[in-house]
Amino acid sequence: MLKKIREAVGLNKNSPYIREFFFHENMKASIYMSVIIIVLELWMILRTTKIIIRDRLWDNFGYYFERYYSNYLLLIITAIVMLVFSSLYLRDKLKARQTGRFLLLSFSFVCLCFGIKVAINDYGKGEQILVFATMTLYALCLITWRPIISFAISSVTFLYLYIRMDSMVAVNTGEVGTTDATKINFFILWISIMMVCVSSYNNTRAQAIKDENLVRVNRHLKRISVTDELTGIHNMVYFRQEAAKDGAELAGKLFLFLDLENFKSYNEKYGFHDGNELLKKVAEAVTETFQGSLVARYSDDHFVVLTDENGCTEAVNKLAGRIDELRRDIQLQLKCGAYRQKEGESDVSVACDRARFACNSLKKHYDRNFRMYDKSLEDSFTLKNYIVNNIDNAIANGYIKAYYQPLISSEDGCVCGFEALARWQDPYYGLLSPAMFIGTLEECRQIHKLDLCMIDNVCSDFVNARNEGIPVVPVSLNFSRLDFELCDVVSALNERTEKFGIPRNFIDVEITESALADSGDVLLDVISRLRVGGYNIWLDDFGSGYSSLNVLKDYSFDVMKIDMQFLKGFGSNEKTYTILESVVKLSGLLGMSSLTEGIETDEQLSFLRSIGCNKLQGYLFGKPVPYEKIIELIKSGELKITPEYESKRR
Ligand code: C2E
Ligand code: MG
Ligand code: MG
Repeated sequence: MLKKIREAVGLNKNSPYIREFFFHENMKASIYMSVIIIVLELWMILRTTKIIIRDRLWDNFGYYFERYYSNYLLLIITAIVMLVFSSLYLRDKLKARQTGRFLLLSFSFVCLCFGIKVAINDYGKGEQILVFATMTLYALCLITWRPIISFAISSVTFLYLYIRMDSMVAVNTGEVGTTDATKINFFILWISIMMVCVSSYNNTRAQAIKDENLVRVNRHLKRISVTDELTGIHNMVYFRQEAAKDGAELAGKLFLFLDLENFKSYNEKYGFHDGNELLKKVAEAVTETFQGSLVARYSDDHFVVLTDENGCTEAVNKLAGRIDELRRDIQLQLKCGAYRQKEGESDVSVACDRARFACNSLKKHYDRNFRMYDKSLEDSFTLKNYIVNNIDNAIANGYIKAYYQPLISSEDGCVCGFEALARWQDPYYGLLSPAMFIGTLEECRQIHKLDLCMIDNVCSDFVNARNEGIPVVPVSLNFSRLDFELCDVVSALNERTEKFGIPRNFIDVEITESALADSGDVLLDVISRLRVGGYNIWLDDFGSGYSSLNVLKDYSFDVMKIDMQFLKGFGSNEKTYTILESVVKLSGLLGMSSLTEGIETDEQLSFLRSIGCNKLQGYLFGKPVPYEKIIELIKSGELKITPEYESKRR
């Protein structure tokens, strides 16, 4: 309660924002006040001059000057000074608040004195004291003082005027002193003005408090919109804004993209909480190492820095050292890609993308932690962008083709199937191999488009071959793990085989071992749907990852495709034979057929036959070739189809 009263009369301490708000409002009020006063006083000067001229009062000019002109001029001068000051202040050209306060006081003092002087004069002539009322209103209400100050000022002025009036002789009665009516009116005037002062002060203060809260909320919103929630350092919104601000000065500067390789394993081992703590420390280390540079968190365990080239590699090495101290028993490696901004370039996002591309090119290169975006990277970056931007177009124009590589039965050496492998026949780049587009399409989550297109191609080639009277054999298709996330590839396959009338046991689906490693229940479900649908499911690239045996435990396949890596040591490493023999045996024990990929020599072929590998694939039997070529090879008898094949599969 007491607090409320103190606030109402202005005895509390206001925040700097509220004080500034009051001052600002007072400056605005001073502008209106001074303009009105200047106009009024000029009019008064004109009026008085007109009377002097009309009544030929030249001789008494001294009297008029002292009694009228001097007052008008003093008011005009004070008002002009006040007007100039407040205009400059409001235009942010002057910041002298003390001077402003002094001027406000002086201006109000002059107004009040003028009011008193004219009021006494008018009262003496038996007129109203309206000028005093106007001047007091001006000085106490337009300019908002704390009520306690208004009280002090008005008490002094009212008291002084009252004493002066009370000692005067009334014109009409000839008696000394004010009448009761005048006393009451005078008192009511004072009370009314005081009430207006209190109300004006509290209204302005309420508005100031509201404004201050808004400013605070805005500031907070602005801060969180440019701050990364987890680490507390700046986010990309801020980074892009600030980097773009520099504009012309960006040329020659380096954009760094930092990545903590293996952070995922850290998260898995120590949990999310510890992972977050580590990220905070890394953010701190990056900020400290690149002091004075623009630093932000890009996403996850990625950070970006805009810095000078000078001393950059040293800073990266220093940072790598600090991160090495932070890791526990997980091998965390800092990778840094850098892009040097060229003259005339200003797109911050593109620069970050290029630095990121350089950084990604270091993945799995354990001996390097820094790479500059150079010409060769630029070429692959351009190709990557081309692939992402043109996949739809390539599909629509029929640039994606299925190439077929024969799969040989080791029993009779004849073709028992084909693997369909994608090729992109591009009008600009020429023939693109899967290594050039599969990874990119997976990265940008567009791979399902290609795989659906491959299903279409294989189905229509299959129908064409059948229509031509060529004996048909099963075709295996490669599916990406992402296909199962990005579309309902099983339904799509069902639909198309139905539409083209293709027996489902003529389609084999290859799923790579790496796809199964971190897939969870989704793939279990997909595999069971494929099995129910009647397709054969093949495990591709067995042995290329490090979770092979677990994969065999958790899923069941019809064919195990042994990765060509196993043949790498053929002829030089004795262990290769033992391993291959064991893997072929293992597949048999688990109820799968075996197929070895990448056979290039007769020695490899005879060894694989001797250990009982069921199917064979490799350049020794034929490279992947277009549909027309395959038909030609079959027709010419160069490729022999397993004779009893049809009866076996149907
Ligand atoms: P993959 O499924 O393991 O296919 C076998 C790869 O080994 C093919 O490479 C094939 O040309 C190559 N190859 C076959 N025999 C030999 C040999 O004797 N020596 C050597 N050095 N290589 C041999 P390609 O066609 O470049 O395909 C590479 C990978 O791209 C494929 O590996 C597969 O994972 C992926 N891929 C190909 N087509 C598709 C597709 O349509 N969809 C998806 N998702 N992935 C595909
Ligand atoms: Mg394959
Ligand atoms: Mg393979």
